[in-house]
Amino acid sequence: MSVKTYIGLGSNLGDSRQILVDAIQKLSELGVVSVSKLYQSPPMGPQDQPHYLNAVACLETNLEPLDLLDELQKIENESGRVRLRRWGERTLDLDLLIYGNESIKNERLTVPHVGILERDFVVIPLLDLDADLQLNGQILKHSPLLQNPTLTMLEDQNWANIN
Ligand code: ATP
Ligand code: MG
Ligand code: MG
Repeated sequence: MSVKTYIGLGSNLGDSRQILVDAIQKLSELGVVSVSKLYQSPPMGPQDQPHYLNAVACLETNLEPLDLLDELQKIENESGRVRLRRWGERTLDLDLLIYGNESIKNERLTVPHVGILERDFVVIPLLDLDADLQLNGQILKHSPLLQNPTLTMLEDQNWANIN
């Protein structure tokens, strides 16, 4: 039985657009994928780093949560990700935002991802994929974050040649 999952993508090192396109291609080997528009956003945490490219993918997959996390971390590593500092620059970040209706908390995984409701670069692309999405009873399209978004839309949903 496949589960609908949402994965946040971010990159601010290397050829970020190509890294995200490649990541979407690899995700499509794990199940059926659709993608949000492509955005640019200012960095979270340390400010002395380049802006990010961000998007969210919807992946319908048969993988169990920790097996999916393994695959996401493998794709991060294949992009050449090196851990420098918390919320620092990286070639690729893949966060498991939502896994069906499941709540998961173990030493490797917290789902839904803790940052969703504080991050416009996550909420806005999620709404591209499902305008009526809810999280913990909150209707995402009513989020106050949408009043003063910090991100810029760069490309429509065809950017990864997948939808
Ligand atoms: P943030 O999670 O605040 O966006 P980050 O993405 O920079 O920060 P990472 O360095 O990518 O953090 O991941 C650190 C650890 O977070 C990973 O080793 C992973 O085990 C753990 N983790 C917990 N929950 C999740 C999740 N939902 N998706 C991805 N990783 C998670
Ligand atoms: Mg992250
Ligand atoms: Mg991460």
